[in-house]
Amino acid sequence: MTHPDPIDAASELELQMIELALAYRPRVTAMFTGKCLWCDEPIDKGHYCAPECRSDHEKELRAIKHRRANEN
Ligand SMILES: [Zn+2]
Repeated sequence: MTHPDPIDAASELELQMIELALAYRPRVTAMFTGKCLWCDEPIDKGHYCAPECRSDHEKELRAIKHRRANEN
């Protein structure tokens, strides 16, 4: 292929962007436990009973990560 098709080039770029997005997507590694990960409130789906719990937990996780980063 000496003359790359601009449409192919575009879709390849798009693929790379999707791969990047997937690679850097924040991962929820915790399994569904039936309880809010933050306050242990019983829930039927997801990981938190409220958006506030999610943001509090994420703050805590960031703080833990930050502490670990500083220890090294
Ligand atoms: Zn909660």
